[in-house]
Amino acid sequence: MNIKMTVLAVACALVLSACSDNSSAPAPAAPAAAPSATVATPMEAPATMPMAPPAANPGTNGKPAAVVTDCATEIEGNDAIQYNVSSIVVPASCQEFKITLKHVGTLPVTAMGHDVVITKTSDMKAVDVDGIAAGAAAGYVKPDDSRVIAHTSLVGGGESTSVSFAVSKIQGDGPYSFFCSFPGHSALMNGSISVE
Ligand code: ZN
Repeated sequence: MNIKMTVLAVACALVLSACSDNSSAPAPAAPAAAPSATVATPMEAPATMPMAPPAANPGTNGKPAAVVTDCATEIEGNDAIQYNVSSIVVPASCQEFKITLKHVGTLPVTAMGHDVVITKTSDMKAVDVDGIAAGAAAGYVKPDDSRVIAHTSLVGGGESTSVSFAVSKIQGDGPYSFFCSFPGHSALMNGSISVE
């Protein structure tokens, strides 16, 4: 009996030592793999960093907000089919707001006309399509379009135009946008207008 117990005890001890040897064997392998993992991490970090800024500012195209002074702002359009701002924030204290568009390019209105048309963002595309159908004589804005909250005339290089409107008109169920209705321009020339 005593001998058998001893054999069993030895056998168990051998198994335990064998198990502990096996379990300790993979341990050195894990730290060996770790260095390659830490090498990969710094390589991924710079790749994701440049992606973050564009995602944080969707639709702004990196342009600033319009500078507003005394319930008015002046924005620019150029020969590269660009406004110089991405958004206009109208102070809630204003009753009326005036937008002046300065065409800082040199191309004529027939080739590079710019205007500012304000609609609900959800109406922008349809108003643009109907404006293009209305044609150059209508300034690419459909006459008496109830979806148009305000719009300037169409101007060419070196010219300016402006429009004033009641701020209450853009305090409803927005969001609201402004865009250029010259054919093909709205995809590049648009921005948000809001009241804060
Ligand atoms: Zn334009």
